[in-house]
Amino acid sequence: MGHLAGRRITVIGAGIGGLTAAIALARRGAEVTILERSAELAEIGAGIQLSPNGMRVIDALGLGDAVRAASLPSRAVELYDQWARPVIRLDFRARRPDADFRVIHRARLIECLARAAGQAGVTLKLGQPAGAIPADGLVIGADGLHSLTRQALNGREVPFFTGHTAWRAVIPDPGTGPTTARLYMAPGRHLVSYRLGDGLRNIVAVMERRDWQDEGWSQPGDPQALREAFAAIGGAVPGWLKRVETAHLWGLFRHEVARIWQDGRIALVGDAAHPTLPFLAQGGVMAIEDAWTVAGCLDAEADVPTALARYQALREPRCRRIVAAANANARNYHLSGARRLVGHHALRCIGRLAPDLMPSRFDWLYDHDPTNETP
Ligand SMILES: Cc1cc2nc3c(=O)[nH]c(=O)nc-3n(C[C@H](O)[C@H](O)[C@H](O)COP(=O)(O)OP(=O)(O)OC[C@H]3O[C@@H](n4cnc5c(N)ncnc54)[C@H](O)[C@@H]3O)c2cc1C
Repeated sequence: MGHLAGRRITVIGAGIGGLTAAIALARRGAEVTILERSAELAEIGAGIQLSPNGMRVIDALGLGDAVRAASLPSRAVELYDQWARPVIRLDFRARRPDADFRVIHRARLIECLARAAGQAGVTLKLGQPAGAIPADGLVIGADGLHSLTRQALNGREVPFFTGHTAWRAVIPDPGTGPTTARLYMAPGRHLVSYRLGDGLRNIVAVMERRDWQDEGWSQPGDPQALREAFAAIGGAVPGWLKRVETAHLWGLFRHEVARIWQDGRIALVGDAAHPTLPFLAQGGVMAIEDAWTVAGCLDAEADVPTALARYQALREPRCRRIVAAANANARNYHLSGARRLVGHHALRCIGRLAPDLMPSRFDWLYDHDPTNETP
């Protein structure tokens, strides 16, 4: 046993980051209590992609079988233009056959994590909004975008609208077997879809929009407005959108990556530290990586301030790089005019002549193994 044995820790927030952190801490002997403001662990109906860097943590926590049983393997990401003509296929699995890219319904992921947290002896207190940071003891702030914990460390910051809105919907899809994420790029918008398993298909449709006035960041989205906004995209898309009965529309807000992640007693994980645009599918995965690393650092080092400083030093550069790469994708997916013609032509040539080149540009992201890092 390391330095976490018997240590009392409060985690604020029972999202992907908070639950994973609680499991990682409790598995190393800590006595963990999670305070979650919602009365139940309800997740929106939507999918999430889990890349190998996150799956390595899932495996190290002993959750691999449960998560695999609840998810589908994903073979590749295929990019199309708005007329559904292939642009490039990113075959990440061909490059690393042992690596596990998966897609899962968010509710199923949360179920797996919550069950494992219970088995690890974590106390989950639902309907308990933390109105202030607990006055003593170690605190992990996993309280998402509007994080109270982040505010305690960094002062008051107002999240800014990124200029993007996202519709999310799931539709019935009876297909079976491994899935492929298809991404359709059009000027100022893109749409991603993949089969989720359980007879469902996930749709995320992102549009640039400067005029978002709403203070909140989610509201019911009119399926007809979704169909109209993406009417210019062809191929399978009109058929999918016709089947949308319920959609949610999100204004994508975020902060910059936090300057201060910890103060020697309180530490941030997940969106609380580094909310990102979802254009690299890494927000949840970064939270999972953070969770592993913060637990590893606290277990390896007796002095908590030293351990938390090490945690920030290990995580901040990587998270900054991921957030920047997701921002770059926002620009690349939404090109218009001549830049789009040139960009898509270049990608088609690369895909034909050097199919491994584009997937290799993500080695730094997907080959990372937090469980091999020295805390
Ligand atoms: C359209 C879209 C698609 C995405 N797709 C992907 C993807 O494919 N792959 C991926 O990895 N990521 C994806 N993400 C990002 C991912 O959803 C987030 O990064 C992830 O959910 C962050 O997890 P978290 O635990 O840090 O925060 P959250 O999920 O926001 O959880 C925070 C929790 O804290 C609770 N809380 C807040 N304040 C308090 C308080 N004061 N007291 C008690 N509890 C509190 C909240 O109720 C919540 O349960 C996507 C995001 C969007 C918007």
